Order: sequence, then C-alpha cells, then structure tokens
Amino acid sequence: MRNHIAQIKEELGQKLSTVSALDGIQVIESSFKKTIKELFTEMKGLSPEEKREAGQLINDLKNHFEAKFKEMREAAASGAKTEVTLDLSIASQEFVRGKIHPLIRVGKMMEDVYKEMGFSIAYGPEIEREKYNYEMLNMPYYHPARDMQDTFYLNYPSILLRSHTSCVQIRYMLTHKPPFMIVSPGVVYRVDEIDPQHTPCFYQIEGLVVGEGINLANLKWAMTESVKRIFGETLKVRFSPCYYPYTEPSAAVDMSCIMCGGKGCRTCKDTGWMRVAGAGMVHPNVFEAVGYSRDTVGFAFGWGLNRLPMLYFKIAEMRKLFENEISLWEQL
Ligand SMILES: [Zn+2]
Repeated sequence: MRNHIAQIKEELGQKLSTVSALDGIQVIESSFKKTIKELFTEMKGLSPEEKREAGQLINDLKNHFEAKFKEMREAAASGAKTEVTLDLSIASQEFVRGKIHPLIRVGKMMEDVYKEMGFSIAYGPEIEREKYNYEMLNMPYYHPARDMQDTFYLNYPSILLRSHTSCVQIRYMLTHKPPFMIVSPGVVYRVDEIDPQHTPCFYQIEGLVVGEGINLANLKWAMTESVKRIFGETLKVRFSPCYYPYTEPSAAVDMSCIMCGGKGCRTCKDTGWMRVAGAGMVHPNVFEAVGYSRDTVGFAFGWGLNRLPMLYFKIAEMRKLFENEISLWEQL
C-alpha cells in the first residue's frame, strides 16, 4: 500500500507539471478523487494496524493534492484574467456597407417626380381580396381578362397576392371623394417562369387622377412629363390603342429605347421602343363599383417599375435585380 501510494503521488506530480489551463486541472482533479475512493475501498481488507497506517497515508496524499489543485486553479484563473488585453492599434475589419437597391432608387425618383407634380402617395396591402383585385375593377369571375394574369391564390377564390397595384385605386376611392391625384408604388405577383425579362414578382407604380374635366390629354401629359423628368427631355413616349377591362379607352405606353436612342438594338428587339406602361380613362363600371356616379371622369396608369431601373442603369437582364450582387450595385 505504501509503495502504491508513493507511485500515485509521483505519477500525479508529473501529470500536473504538464498542465496549466483550468479545464486540464479539473480533469486530473476529478480522476484523482476517484483514485482516493478506490484506495479507501482497497484498505478494507487490511489488518487494523495496517489500516491506521494506510488511512494516514491516503489522507496525507489527499490533503497534499487538494492544496495543490487549489493553488493551480487560482493561478490559472488569475492568468486568464491577465490574458485579456486591449490593443487600440489593431486595425478594425472593413465594414461592407450595402447600397440602396436600383428598384428602390428609381421608385423613389418616380415618387419624388409625382410629388413635385402634386400627387399624393397611397399604399395598399400585398395580400388582397379578390373583390378589390378583380371584381370591382370590372373583371367579374367570368371575365376572360382574368386569364391574362395567372394569379397566386392564398385562399381560392377570395384571397390572393395582388396581381397589380390597381386594387389600391379601389381601396382609395372607397374612402375618398374626388378630386384627387394619387400614385401607389408596390410589389405585385404573377405566376411566371424566371427568364431574362420575367420574374414572378415585380414592382409597379400606379397612378389615378379623378376630377372634373380630366381627359386623355391630361393623361398623356402627366405620363410623358414624369418620365422626361427622369430620363431627360429627348425621351419620346408613344401611346397606342390597347385593351384593359378597367379603362376605356385604354392605351399601351412605349418609351423610346434608352439603350440605342430609338435606333433599334437587341434590348428593344430592333423596334426602337420599349413597352413600359398601360393606361386609360377609368371605366364607368369601376366608378359605379365604388359608389361614384358613372359620369365621373378620371384616368389611371401603371408603370412596370422593373423596366425603368433596367433602362435607367442599363441593366440587361431583369433577374439581375433579384440577385443582390453588391459588386453590381456598386457600379451603378
Ligand atoms: Zn434599343
């Protein structure tokens, strides 16, 4: 027993000389406690005299190392404290700042231009009632125009992701009386495969002007003026007959191609024009649906806002707008 204890003492002393970290000391300490327990168990088979001697030796061993462990734990703890130093000369890591997204930048430009022209900004929810998205915009459930827009329904047929911002017109007219001039920017959703020119969610900016004597000439001026303030005086805007259920007459609106100045290029498919908006005089059925007289007059327009940053910043593919490449935004 005496030899056995002496051996434990020597081995443990060596082991302890190789550690200084707190967790290393704790591992040795817990295995040491186990060894002491085992020694006391071994002692049971000894004679009373041997027991007294062995008990004394084990207690000495225990006291010796407990004191040692305590000392080492304290040293490790105070050492850990002194390791924390403050070096003010170390250069900080470079902080990468984001950029405002081109869609938001052009959207804000459009908002600012319309505010200058006397419009107010109106917002609406992206999750919309079918009634406001279709029914009250002169598109009852049997109307073939619904086939033009494949819709994301959340709860068919009553709740959907709005397929255009025109539903904000309905919400606004239900709570306001003319005259007014509003624009409503926001995200809209349509089932679409992603390709260079299409994405299933995109931005629109909708306009609505209702008041006595409002006519098609006012519509033409407001739309032309707003984009000229952004793209410059040389820009041309073209209106051609079109069909929308919620306007009559309706117009498709083209802008002369920014990329080639109207000469014809790949982006404009050699036509010199880009389709950027739809517009028209608000249909009497829409006014009737919101409780206005059928004799009310007003115009509405909707810019496909994804097209405009592509043209403004000369981005070739629409999907780039959703890839969030900071290196690309930095060049703009
Ligand atoms: Zn072109």
